[in-house]
Amino acid sequence: MGIKENLVTVKNRILQASEKAGRSDRVELVAVSKTFPADCVRQALLAGQRIFGENRVQEAAEKWPALKTDFPDAKLHLIGPLQTNKAHMAVELFDCIETLDRPKLVGVLEKELVRRGKTMEAFIQVNIGDEPQKSGVSVAGLAEFVDLCRNTEVVVVSGLMCIPPFGEPALPYFERMATLAVEHKLSCLSMGMSGDFELAVAAGATHVRVGTSIFGQR
Ligand SMILES: *Cc1c(COP(=O)(O)O)cnc(C)c1O
Repeated sequence: MGIKENLVTVKNRILQASEKAGRSDRVELVAVSKTFPADCVRQALLAGQRIFGENRVQEAAEKWPALKTDFPDAKLHLIGPLQTNKAHMAVELFDCIETLDRPKLVGVLEKELVRRGKTMEAFIQVNIGDEPQKSGVSVAGLAEFVDLCRNTEVVVVSGLMCIPPFGEPALPYFERMATLAVEHKLSCLSMGMSGDFELAVAAGATHVRVGTSIFGQR
């Protein structure tokens, strides 16, 4: 199957999961194009897909400026960790940073954004499984971090994002995330990948991040 057909299939599966959950709001598909060449991304763009996810700033910097010139309405989300020394590049390249995870990063982004007179949409990454090796704000530290973010006007936090622990049922984690989003009055919820995006939709995801089911195995 080609990228265009895969996109149709994934979008239908999202719609079905959404209907089954009795939802009438929109679920955004973030097509995760990491490791795939610009040619593949272009096929998805030509098929009408407009929101993409990349996990490495350097890779996005090589692939995306030309694609954005040809498709100015394409939106790019950063879904991988952001080092502060790459914040200046991220601010130029991305439309949403889904992996906001520490105060220092908020400070550096703020400085870069103020310098350019821009704002940036961001989601806070939550380490929902409390895994020591994983990035993300702990559930215990979330309230304080949300407050800190709300004190800056240029980093506009609109949601939460998570990658649940590998090899465990994801639904309870997704449901916990949905509760946290309500508690903190955040409207967006980025969760669910190729293996579990329907469960994420059932739990209230507003953004699902799907790579393999669209572009194939990496
Ligand atoms: C790679 C990646 C995805 C997509 O995963 P697939 O299983 O290929 O759909 C989603 N989210 C993040 C953070 C990723 O790094």
